[in-house]
Amino acid sequence: MAQKQKQSWNSARRAAILVVLLLALTGWAGTAGTEAFDPSRALSHARYLSETIGDRPAGSAGEQAAASWLAARFEELGYTVRVQPFTFSSEGRQQTSMNVVATRQGQAGYGIIYAGAHYDTVKRIPGVDYGGPGANDNASGVGVLLEAARVMAAETVTPTLTFIAFGAEELGLTGSRDYVATMPVWEWAQARAMVNFDCVGIGDELLLLVDREVDKAFAATLPVAPDAIERIAGGASDQASFADAGIPAVLFFMDREGAGSCGPNYHRPTDTFETLEPAAVERTGQAAVDALRYLAATAQADTAHLTFLPFLSAHPAKTTDFYNPKPRPLTSVAIPFELP
Ligand SMILES: [Zn+2]
Repeated sequence: MAQKQKQSWNSARRAAILVVLLLALTGWAGTAGTEAFDPSRALSHARYLSETIGDRPAGSAGEQAAASWLAARFEELGYTVRVQPFTFSSEGRQQTSMNVVATRQGQAGYGIIYAGAHYDTVKRIPGVDYGGPGANDNASGVGVLLEAARVMAAETVTPTLTFIAFGAEELGLTGSRDYVATMPVWEWAQARAMVNFDCVGIGDELLLLVDREVDKAFAATLPVAPDAIERIAGGASDQASFADAGIPAVLFFMDREGAGSCGPNYHRPTDTFETLEPAAVERTGQAAVDALRYLAATAQADTAHLTFLPFLSAHPAKTTDFYNPKPRPLTSVAIPFELP
C-alpha cells in the first residue's frame, strides 16, 4: 500500500514536471490561480447598494451602512481594510463621511496601484425629480471595483494594490480630495497610477476620460480597447484628485451616442437597478481587470523611491505644487448646493 502510493506519487510528480517543461517550451505564460471577472457578482453588489441600502447621500445613515458593508466585503476578500473618516460642512453644519480603503501590500519599491469608485449618491429633494438610489451613479462602479478586487486578490503581483470606495464624491470629490490631501509623502512617492469607475452600468461605448493632456498617453497604454480617450473638464470624478496630485489617473465611463451623461436617469429617483445593462458592467469590468493586470505586471522596481523617498527631485513628472512638507489636513469646504 505505502509502496504503491509512493509509486503513484512519483509518477504524478514526473507527469507534473513534464507538464511544466512543456509549458515552458511553448512559452505559455499561464493563468493558473487566476479568476475571471464575473459580471453577475458585480451586478449583485450594485443591487445590494441601490436596493437593499438605497440612497447613500454624504453624511447619511445610508452612506454609513454602505461603508460598513463595503469594509466587510473587502475583508472577506483578504484585504487589509481601514475606514478613513473626514468632515465636511453642508447645509450649515459639520458632517462626517468616510473612505473605505482596502490594501494588499506588495513588494517594496514596486509602487502602489489604485482603483476607486464613489459609493455615495446625491441627496433627494422632496417634491423635485432629484436624488435617488444611484444604481448607475455609482453602485455600478462600486460593483466593478469589488469584483475587480476579488479577481486581483487571486493574482500574484509585485506592486501594492489599493482599492478605495470614496464617500462624498457628489459634494465636490470630497472623499478623494481628502484621501490625496492626507496621503503621507512616502505613499505619494510610491503612487504609480489610479483607475476610477463611475457610471459604468449603462451604455455601449467605453470611454477613458482624463483630466490632463499627459494622461491621454497613460490611458492609451492600457490594453482595454476603448471607443475613445478624451480629456474632460477637471473635477468630473475622483480620478481628478489623483491627477491634480500628479498621479497618472483615468476614469472608466460607459456612454451611449456621445451623450456624455450618466444615462437618462442621472441624479434622479429613477436611477434604479433594473435600468442597468449587464453588458455595460461586463465590458467595464473586463477592461478594469485587464488594466489592473497590465499595470501590476509592468510595474518595475524603482530604487529611486527607496533612496530619495522624501525628495521631490526623484519625481520630475509630478507637479511641484502638490508637495508640501507640512501636513495638509482636510479643510472644511462649504458645499455649494445647486439643482442640476
Ligand atoms: Zn458619480
